[in-house]
Amino acid sequence: MEQVAHTWIAIRAIALLEDEGKTTDLVGLLKPYANAASAGAWLPDLALATRRGTGASIYHHTMKMALYTEADQVKRFTMDRKTLVSKLGPGRAMAAYLKSNDPLGNVWWNAPYKGDAPPGRHIPNGAMALGTTIKHLLIMGDQQLEALVPGDLKDRQYVNADCCTRRQAAAMYLFMLSHFVADACMPLHCDKRKLSGGPLHKGWEDSWKAKVGDGFSKEKLHPATPDSDTDKLLKAARGRDGEFGLDFGDNAIPGPRPKTDLWLDTMYVCRASFALNSIACSPNEYPYGGAKTPSFSTVLSEGNPELLADLDRVVLHDAVLNTAMAWKRIWESFEKSE
Ligand SMILES: [Zn+2]
Repeated sequence: MEQVAHTWIAIRAIALLEDEGKTTDLVGLLKPYANAASAGAWLPDLALATRRGTGASIYHHTMKMALYTEADQVKRFTMDRKTLVSKLGPGRAMAAYLKSNDPLGNVWWNAPYKGDAPPGRHIPNGAMALGTTIKHLLIMGDQQLEALVPGDLKDRQYVNADCCTRRQAAAMYLFMLSHFVADACMPLHCDKRKLSGGPLHKGWEDSWKAKVGDGFSKEKLHPATPDSDTDKLLKAARGRDGEFGLDFGDNAIPGPRPKTDLWLDTMYVCRASFALNSIACSPNEYPYGGAKTPSFSTVLSEGNPELLADLDRVVLHDAVLNTAMAWKRIWESFEKSE
């Protein structure tokens, strides 16, 4: 996903939290910095985010799956359709879509698939690591942040105020988390086939960029001023829903699925994204290990516009919803044990 889409997804997620109305302090943390901290939503994609001129590199943007061909852990890497739908849980558009559409059939669903990332370098790890870090950073917030985060810090008198997390920095870290949550929803980030780096990927992302529009470009949002009108910005974000056929219904944001952490939950989303990509590009036509790379117009925009409309709707809906869910999960962990 590119800058404009990442920015819109995160800002739309703030609007969803606001519309749900259950986490007003979390909205109070994020909304004032919807302009200023929104760079966090796209910075993780840029080389400069890994310190230009150094060898530092943090790569957690994909979870590219392929057939698992070893013999020892077949069960671990196999998940049938019904089980995946239930793991994703109600409220997610990917779950509803996969529940009622099965062009892949049992042969596909009963095969084992595994991501190819080196240890620790895939989306679920990135989301979990950042989510856990954010929890720690929220615990020791500055005075403004302390007033918003539930509970209070024991032994605060021993913590130097200069060492505490600033409220605007906390907003930026949450925007950064949105990046990885959204990347998990991009079907091409979750499929190892060559087509992932090809013209389909770029064509699809360019179409999202055009639909979101340049109201969410970095040039428009920066520099933010103290009086940046964030009500207007959230309204503009809601205003893009129609481009993707989104309907958030009663704006309810589901709580965490039972017995999951952010790692496992994101892994299920990656698995669903992989299934969606396999629906768009059938493995019969584009086999694993093959070099064929279709264009966006061949398989989606002209070749199958109905499927494109469905996939846009479920992918962007869940990118927004999952971002709100991940933020809320962190926030509510201060109120109750998970
Ligand atoms: Zn990315």
